[in-house]
Amino acid sequence: MAPVGGKKAKRGILERLNSGEVVIGDGGFVFALEKRGYVKAGPWTPEAAVEHPEAGASIVGVNCHFDPTISLQTVKLMKEGLEAARLKAHLMSQPLAYHTPDCNKQGFIDLPEFPFGLEPRVTTRWDIQKYAREAYNLGVRYIGGCCGFEPYHIRAIAEELAPERGFLPPASEKHGSWGSGLDMHTKPWIRARARKEYWENLRIASGRPYNPSLSKPDAWGVTKGTSELMQQKEATTEQQLRELFEKQKFKSAQ
Ligand SMILES: [Zn+2]
Repeated sequence: MAPVGGKKAKRGILERLNSGEVVIGDGGFVFALEKRGYVKAGPWTPEAAVEHPEAGASIVGVNCHFDPTISLQTVKLMKEGLEAARLKAHLMSQPLAYHTPDCNKQGFIDLPEFPFGLEPRVTTRWDIQKYAREAYNLGVRYIGGCCGFEPYHIRAIAEELAPERGFLPPASEKHGSWGSGLDMHTKPWIRARARKEYWENLRIASGRPYNPSLSKPDAWGVTKGTSELMQQKEATTEQQLRELFEKQKFKSAQ
């Protein structure tokens, strides 16, 4: 299948979804920009570009904070809710590219690894192909990713759904799908990995013998209205930080 060529006239998101197109989104730019050194991670102020305010509730779904599995379970519940209420809406999902089976209600921000130790949880491109297929089968047509997603993850969505979309993304020129480019590798056991079955069935090791596979999420019980949750304009003082460090010590010991 050839990559898509030429520039199509820009159409609105609803127009594209209404015509049955599978739209691929990428909302993980804050994390990606921090890793590349473009933005300072501090206040973590999200920037949102609302390009299509006319969309409104015509598109329903979830974005960020949870992994692909939990996100799709949530979208499934939304779909059932819409059907029960006899409402029609396009479904969307933009999960994390991190595995978070152990996070609680607030999602990955409660994991002790957030935000700078999340790398061992990164999904593979194969996890993302599986997610794209499951999302499509569920009826989601705006399929994307949020924090942790890298360009190769988005490419994996586009490649998995190439039969439905009718074309491969331009970035597919840079590799062979399902590892097929490994067929020229100098080592024969690596050449043996040039196939879908290998990558689809691989159980991946973390390589961290003294680490747990799951973490205990923080649960400070800080909810809306708590003074510590107010975003302040002035810099956090040394004294305020010390109080938080003490509180963390106490919470960790529990
Ligand atoms: Zn995010």
